[in-house]
Amino acid sequence: MSAPVPRRAVLRGAVLLGAAAGVTALGQLTGDRGARAVATRVDQPTIANCATWGARPPSSAVTVVQNRPNKIIIHHTAFPNSTDYSLAHAYQNSRDIQDLHMDTNGWLDSGQHFTNSRGGYLTEGRHGSLYALLHGQTMVQGAHCVGQNSQAIGIENEGIYLDVQPPQALWDSLVLFCAFTCQQYAIPATEIYGHKDFNNTQCPGLLHDRLPELRSAVAARLG
Ligand SMILES: [Zn+2]
Repeated sequence: MSAPVPRRAVLRGAVLLGAAAGVTALGQLTGDRGARAVATRVDQPTIANCATWGARPPSSAVTVVQNRPNKIIIHHTAFPNSTDYSLAHAYQNSRDIQDLHMDTNGWLDSGQHFTNSRGGYLTEGRHGSLYALLHGQTMVQGAHCVGQNSQAIGIENEGIYLDVQPPQALWDSLVLFCAFTCQQYAIPATEIYGHKDFNNTQCPGLLHDRLPELRSAVAARLG
């Protein structure tokens, strides 16, 4: 029911323990509670991890980068604009992307860190991305944008938006995801970009035109 907050508390306690040897976990969690209530404005949205949507294991170990990402990059999958807005379809979409990236592209795992479905369901992409996000200190190296894979969180939005807008549910979950990610990694809301800002691509279509709106919505969430 209220799983996100206790989980974050446990994770943050664990992170602090690394820098404060000799302090018990219980003591850390108790001492951290007051500060966190002030610092945390955006609650964790539900993000299904790799095990939940039935990901295949990576073909080789993912690389954990020992720095925080400095931006978020928005993508569209260029898959068809499905009218199946269910959770089951979101999971299938995640499996389809992973299959494409591993079997056709030859990558070790999904290229993006996270995925957003047309029904507004968020899932983890590359293994380890959710764990890193919840800690807020490191990131997993992605394969979503040449030149940015060790410094940008990539989110794939299901569908193709060259001449149509995404469903409102997708937009709303994208705003929540970006706000939470900016909070966890201390990324300014101004540092949200589209794939075409860095590579020669049409991705993410009309979503790129709406980046100013997205940045404003995220900034409002962050307060
Ligand atoms: Zn892209």
